[in-house]
Amino acid sequence: MNYYNKNTIIYLNGEYVNASEAGMDLYSQSLHYGYAVFEGIRSYKTVSGETKIFKAKEHYERLKNSATLLNIPYPFDRDEIIDITYQVLEKNGIQDAYIRPLVYLPADMTFNVSQESYLMIAAWPMGLFLGDKLLRVATSQYQRPNPKGFIIEAKASGHYVNSILASQDAKQRGYNEALLTDMNGWVAEGPGANVFFEKEGRLFTPATGNILPGITRQTVLELCEALQIEVEEGQFTVEDMKEADAAFFCGTAAEIIGWESLDDIFFKKPWSETLSKKIQNAYKDLVIEKEQEPAPESRQLDAALSS
Ligand code: PMP
Repeated sequence: MNYYNKNTIIYLNGEYVNASEAGMDLYSQSLHYGYAVFEGIRSYKTVSGETKIFKAKEHYERLKNSATLLNIPYPFDRDEIIDITYQVLEKNGIQDAYIRPLVYLPADMTFNVSQESYLMIAAWPMGLFLGDKLLRVATSQYQRPNPKGFIIEAKASGHYVNSILASQDAKQRGYNEALLTDMNGWVAEGPGANVFFEKEGRLFTPATGNILPGITRQTVLELCEALQIEVEEGQFTVEDMKEADAAFFCGTAAEIIGWESLDDIFFKKPWSETLSKKIQNAYKDLVIEKEQEPAPESRQLDAALSS
């Protein structure tokens, strides 16, 4: 995957600069200790032809919240950075994009609080929708970070070593992606996405507390309300999931992607007959502000599952 080329422009500390000429301090506290916060955002070309950053406010509020929770200075104005993000898209001539803001810190080998932070915003093309490919998921030996040792609601760079270990392990074992439990063994989430399952016409999803509270997860809850689908948030076991009719990951990059199996146990209902599929369609329409379902395309599976 080429994230940038010689013409790519990023925003870096008040300036629009060429990505291939931009650099960072190798002595940064963020690089050495994973002490940085970031977001994963999508923009879409809507049916009207306009570029729309989906849930821009929510993502930048979460970025601020992540930084604040981790004592990282955050002197950035939400609406100003939303404008800057649209500028980055425009300067690169992309509409369907993945947007990656990152807040990182200056050179410091101590564990002290920094007085300063830097903001980088990059974007690269990301097409629409993964289509109807269903995932083979494996329960991971890795658990999500213990919320008593990490601030799990923060989207912190360092947390993603856990995601990388779990995802790589699942792929080495021949699966598409991992399902992680929390420190108590309850179903938690994927390495870069939240999880839902469906049983007898109802949806279930892990309650917040030991997971990243996803913006897509929240959108799914809202879609369920609109579609009058009952959802229960709670604590569930991997066994509960294996008895489900269907399951899916949801996340900004993954959007909504159904599962074929969990630990080689196949889900009972054909995906096309599930409520989950209805939600997937509704989500696809929502992001492009469309009333009906667009044609599915199958691409960028790995990129979408990354975060
Ligand atoms: N959990 C984890 C660990 C993630 O990295 C992500 C992706 N940001 C999500 C859940 C889904 O969050 P969102 O819907 O806000 O992208």
